[in-house]
Amino acid sequence: MHPAVHTYSTSRNLEQSVLGHASEPSGVLHPSLKPLPLHVVAAEGTMLKFSDGKTIEDATCGAAVACIGYHSERVKAAIVKQWDRFAYSNSMFYGHAIGEELAAELLRGTNQEMSKVYLMCSGAEAMEAAMKMARQYYMELDPKQPQRMNFIARNGSYHGSTLGSLSMSGHVGRRKLFEGMLFNNIHRVSAAYEYRGRTDGQTTEDYVQQLADELDQKFQELGPDTVCAFVAEPVVGATLGTVPAPAGYFKAMKKVCDKYGALLIFDEVMSGMGRCGTLHEWEQEGVVPDIQTVAKGLAGGFAPIAGMFINHRVSAALTAGTGVFSHAHTYQGHPLGCAAALEVQRIIREDNLVQNVRDNGEYLGKLLREQLADHQHVGDIRGRGFFWSKLTYMKLEFVSCKKTKEPFPPSAGIAKKVHLVAHNDVGISLYPGMGTKDGVTGDHVWIGPAYTSTKQDIERIVSKVKESVTLALK
Ligand code: PLP
Repeated sequence: MHPAVHTYSTSRNLEQSVLGHASEPSGVLHPSLKPLPLHVVAAEGTMLKFSDGKTIEDATCGAAVACIGYHSERVKAAIVKQWDRFAYSNSMFYGHAIGEELAAELLRGTNQEMSKVYLMCSGAEAMEAAMKMARQYYMELDPKQPQRMNFIARNGSYHGSTLGSLSMSGHVGRRKLFEGMLFNNIHRVSAAYEYRGRTDGQTTEDYVQQLADELDQKFQELGPDTVCAFVAEPVVGATLGTVPAPAGYFKAMKKVCDKYGALLIFDEVMSGMGRCGTLHEWEQEGVVPDIQTVAKGLAGGFAPIAGMFINHRVSAALTAGTGVFSHAHTYQGHPLGCAAALEVQRIIREDNLVQNVRDNGEYLGKLLREQLADHQHVGDIRGRGFFWSKLTYMKLEFVSCKKTKEPFPPSAGIAKKVHLVAHNDVGISLYPGMGTKDGVTGDHVWIGPAYTSTKQDIERIVSKVKESVTLALK
């Protein structure tokens, strides 16, 4: 056994059974600097096979990525076909058909609300590009607005780990070490988080108005004409965990942006490309962002690819101005990534998978509520869907006391415990989110099944979730 296992403190017995099959010391620089405990040796459908011989069901598509499962002959054939033509070309000088085909497919998916898509390799890259695009937009206008340097983002958000995207993120833990060197032109307003933000007796409308007033005030504080954009995840993922905005929230926020001439940027890296029951989450909000990023569900993990959409307003400004986006990545528009994404998007469209997400998502929410709402430590069950009934992206938030909504102390490691019990004893992978020290969020686990999941799959997943929660929190 690798000595690294001894440094874990919580639920050690459980962890040892996961970690007991640690491989040899690793040359790969993992975030933990330790070899990861288990190696995946094979994957099929939504099942992962590990180096210890165990096979478990993945109920989260990895990190909300493998949206059509871990294997597809169609996607494999599409990648090989492109490979046989050429695998790489210099995208600064030359275009290619597979990139054009993908762009056409993606823009059609926005009902032509978007004008162009820029293709990169990761969500953080897409968010960096979005920030620069917003800035460049104001430098292309006639007259230019060079004073627009500020961004307004939200608490409890996550936009990536590179310096620009981390600067936008309200992820306390990931920011901590780098606070002094993060950008100081990014300002923050409250998250739209009804469970913890809306006070007793306050209506949703009042809560939304309060948040819109706060945004308005932030514009005033900064100087309304100094703000480039308001940036938000329409359904918050990695930090607060599958928190959809209250009804009317984004319409109200857009109104404030419009009042001051600022752009609206949607980070749909995690919540987009069908995950929440429409291809783009903004379709459910009744607003169209000026800039939108997507990534995880774009190629379902078969290749690293991300995208940044710009709408016609932004595109027209660039066209009338310099005609050049001042940005570049060596691997932008990588042909193999484009081939994978195009085939995944065709499968999603042809197999009507977004409709499946909607239908079975509603069922997932219903079952989770029926089976877990009464548990003494399940404080909130949420996802996209109280109003729209489109939930395939659900989170259970755990609290020590339901009445006060008091989270467990982070030292109790509740989410990790549920995750380990689920993996070791129940045979399912759930995604743990840790409580934060400031008590803003409780521990939670989220579930994000593949878009191909049937009713029976959902029933099995919910029953395994229930078993895991009951065993871990008894
Ligand atoms: N934006 C959101 C909403 C995310 O959830 C993530 C990653 O989880 C990112 C951006 C960063 O994406 P990546 O990890 O691909 O850089």
